[in-house]
Amino acid sequence: MRAEGIGTVRRILCVFPRYTSSFGTFEYAYPLTDGVQAFMPPQGLLLIAAYLPENWPVRFIDENIRPATKEDFEWAEAVFVSGMHIQRQQMNDICRRAHAFDLTVAIGGPSVSACPDYYPSFDYLHVGELGDATNELIARLASDPSRPAQQVVLKTNDRIAMSDFPIPRYELADVKKYLLGSIQYSSGCPYQCEFCDIPGLYGRNPRLKTPQQIVAELDKLRECGMTDTIYFVDDNFIGNRKATLDLLPHLIEWQKRTGYVVRLACEATLNIAKRPEILEKMRDARFVTVFCGIETPDPDALHAMHKDHNMMVPILEGIQTINSYGMEVVSGIIMGLDTDKPGTADALLKFVDESQIPLLTINLLQALPKTPLWDRLEREGRLNDDDGRDSNVEFLMPYDEVISSWKRCMEIAYEPAKLFARYQYQCDYTYANRIKVPVAPEMKSWRNIRRALIMLRNIFWQVGVLGDYRRVFWKFAIGRLRRGDIEGFIGSATIAHHLIKFARAASGGQQNASNYSIRLREASVPAE
Ligand code: SF4
Repeated sequence: MRAEGIGTVRRILCVFPRYTSSFGTFEYAYPLTDGVQAFMPPQGLLLIAAYLPENWPVRFIDENIRPATKEDFEWAEAVFVSGMHIQRQQMNDICRRAHAFDLTVAIGGPSVSACPDYYPSFDYLHVGELGDATNELIARLASDPSRPAQQVVLKTNDRIAMSDFPIPRYELADVKKYLLGSIQYSSGCPYQCEFCDIPGLYGRNPRLKTPQQIVAELDKLRECGMTDTIYFVDDNFIGNRKATLDLLPHLIEWQKRTGYVVRLACEATLNIAKRPEILEKMRDARFVTVFCGIETPDPDALHAMHKDHNMMVPILEGIQTINSYGMEVVSGIIMGLDTDKPGTADALLKFVDESQIPLLTINLLQALPKTPLWDRLEREGRLNDDDGRDSNVEFLMPYDEVISSWKRCMEIAYEPAKLFARYQYQCDYTYANRIKVPVAPEMKSWRNIRRALIMLRNIFWQVGVLGDYRRVFWKFAIGRLRRGDIEGFIGSATIAHHLIKFARAASGGQQNASNYSIRLREASVPAE
């Protein structure tokens, strides 16, 4: 479905803001690749681009790849921007630059939907999902593209069913420049973890596309050149388990038809470990990674944050179960919880060792607007937006103690020998459980071989020769290469490099302690 019946033509410039450097965007890995420059194509803007009237020309710029230029702004009649809280400063900067050309600027997406007051300079605020607000915005621009006298807030009351969503215009993004492809099957999550804004923003009853839409989107991503990993950005891939089971056979068929060229990844709650019927099909569909918000190994803390569903199976057992289906677990971890004690950091480091999870996003608790946590802390007078803080939460433990515990955890968890030992475990006990897939002719193509050679050259030179953790690296590398596991070696080595470099910057105080932190270190650096 797309907006129809608009005779007027408007040229729309969609600009996605740069990310503030964060643990989860993997930028230290990019120099080891064959030209990756950004994390994932943004679903929201590419969806809006697909929804606009067919006769409206659209230009898409991801400022993680290149900044919007004078020529882009001169071409446009209106500018659309979307992003998350962490991109707030950059979004306001895009607005300022567009206004220098007297262009109308509209903002949509998760950040403005939760906090419209973060964006006082924009002409149109699109609050909520694709729906009547989108139609109203298009109609207003069609009748008059000039800047309104004052800010107009358009709120979606009537959402368009996801089964009517058009295919995002992946062709506007240069997908080969992204680390991961992105796709979305569902929106919303049935749980209500205290710190999470998903149920408040997108609801507790997951909305769904159809499996046929997903297959068409996957085909489109492949047509656009995607050959690596495609990530389901759904808030919880098993938010509606029946829908997950409906989709998986289609993904398996699609993989068979297209030669298993891509790997799949998703986010899901840890209680997926209780669902062998889902895990089995995920293995067959070549899911290789599941991001689980484990948050903490402390049962009291999980109970306090209303995340009891993480304890439906013992946590370590759940991780091992997922690993036994060939899927590596990536874990979200939160420090600075009210339940934290002086021994929390040690308990966390023990958990890192025991779980053998290589990649854990260890963040400080941040209160996001529209969450029960925010409401509680506001009532308790424990929100603190002072400049220079790494979190807006007044912790119960002394602030400096929490920060130094976080730095210590980052430093020890990502010590190169420990990290590569965990990757070695994954090679032996997780990757070994994956289905053996035939090597598609495409994978043997010169383009693909050349790409692998470039990455091997970069890794060997930048890590194996120039890196200061060479000895640990070579021990791991020789083991993998002897087994002929080039793909596993490249994947582990590039991500490990990011984790090691980022953790060093973090423990040295040069990175945020929260991926959601509103302390925007690069805020003053314009995209140019
Ligand atoms: S399970 Fe995940 S997505 Fe769902 S409410 Fe909890 S943190 Fe949010």
